[in-house]
Amino acid sequence: MRLYNTLTHAEDTFAPAVDNTVRMYTCGLTVYARGHIGNFRTFVCVDVLRRTLKHLLGYRMLHVMNFTDVDDRTIAGAQKAGMDLRAYTDQYIATFLEDARALGLEEVEEMPRATDEVNLRAMADLVGALDKSGHTYRSDGSVYFKISSLPDYGRLARLDHEGMKPGARVDSDNYAKEDARDFVLWKAAKDGEPAWDIVDPPGRPGWHLECSAMALRLLGGPPIDIHAGGIDLIFPHHENEIAQSEAATGKPFSRFWVHVEYLLVDDRKMSKSLGNTYTIPDVVARGYRPSAVRYLLLSAHYRKQLNFTWASLTQAEESLTRLTDFLARVDAVTRQGSHPEIAERVDEGRKAFAEAMQDDLNTAAALGAIFELVRALNSAIDAGEIGAGDVPAVRDAFDRFDRVLGVLSLRRAEDEQPPVPVEEVERLIEERHAVRRRRDFATADQIRNDLAARGVLLEDSAAGTRWKRK
Ligand code: AMP
Ligand code: ZN
Repeated sequence: MRLYNTLTHAEDTFAPAVDNTVRMYTCGLTVYARGHIGNFRTFVCVDVLRRTLKHLLGYRMLHVMNFTDVDDRTIAGAQKAGMDLRAYTDQYIATFLEDARALGLEEVEEMPRATDEVNLRAMADLVGALDKSGHTYRSDGSVYFKISSLPDYGRLARLDHEGMKPGARVDSDNYAKEDARDFVLWKAAKDGEPAWDIVDPPGRPGWHLECSAMALRLLGGPPIDIHAGGIDLIFPHHENEIAQSEAATGKPFSRFWVHVEYLLVDDRKMSKSLGNTYTIPDVVARGYRPSAVRYLLLSAHYRKQLNFTWASLTQAEESLTRLTDFLARVDAVTRQGSHPEIAERVDEGRKAFAEAMQDDLNTAAALGAIFELVRALNSAIDAGEIGAGDVPAVRDAFDRFDRVLGVLSLRRAEDEQPPVPVEEVERLIEERHAVRRRRDFATADQIRNDLAARGVLLEDSAAGTRWKRK
């Protein structure tokens, strides 16, 4: 497939370097807050890349996505909450996993946490290797990477070496391109902050060091095949990951760098610092389903900015419903026989879909191909030109589309679950029975209406009460 590579500024032909296995690293969530749908735009697009490589192209995946559970933001958050760092970040790892499931992200092979002992050790080893190869110095108890020791520094972000001030340092995990300075690998221990004595002097890892160490530890010798993340990570995070890894190993770090553009709100990046974020529970509370969010997030090309609006989410819901309505119509075809034209049309659709996905993940064109096929098949159903013999090929094609896009199966799974937790529905049904036995019909109606407002309909019959989705 052709895949845009930030490193070369071009669409390059992608295939894994070794065997049939794609070794891929995605920078995961910084677990100081629940991830918002801007974060999840990146994760959904990377999931579509993963699914394309795996299900469309047949590669095996070795995919690592970390949790950044120690950095400036997580430490500040834990201090503010008066909690131990690990317990504090545990909460957001749990909500990430919940949201990832709700959005149909395939489980990746490894989800390391930066503060796992084995990863901290890998970070210390990386600092040791950089010490040995003369790329570090120490100042005020922190270890810095000397960017002048690496002539290639700045290649990914295309930095101008002119403005860089040799010897000037930057301590924070995130900073602007204009501040390209010697960056911190390992930060001096401070009162009230976690510290480990595996590096001399004791302290804690900088954000950039974490990803390099975990990628190199879990993905085998460099270069890895693909390194992915949101576009804001190009500088400084990925530039610094490259510097550390290449200076330590003497080998290129990653062959491909894939970056997902921003999800915007009112033309500004959705970000916690701007206070314009929505989480999955926020969206669900407004009556939308996670499958519609997934559909919306993957429907635009990943290298184009996507402006989030409630209207666009409604549209995504409508498009998704068109697909499920179409599949229900296909299932209802009973007329006997099969038609070679249908098989041909389905093959055409499959080909157009595969071509679009292999064209730098052109999801917009791939969805276009699906809807063209839906239109053609709907016309065939209307004209009675489709038979039960055609149905398996149609279903198979849509199953294949969905292995890559992951929306239809997600919708089916949602349909099998009420929009309110099952236990709560069952408890409320019991409660309603109890109040009815007391002849308190007003409360019973109230319970029924409240549930209906939340998308769950109750149906009473002689056999008892059942629920269904509104
Ligand atoms: P963080 O937790 O800040 O490290 O971010 C996790 C991932 O979400 C990173 O890959 C970011 O680049 C990505 N990200 C953050 N905000 C957005 C956004 N508004 N649109 C797309 N990706 C984002
Ligand atoms: Zn990273």
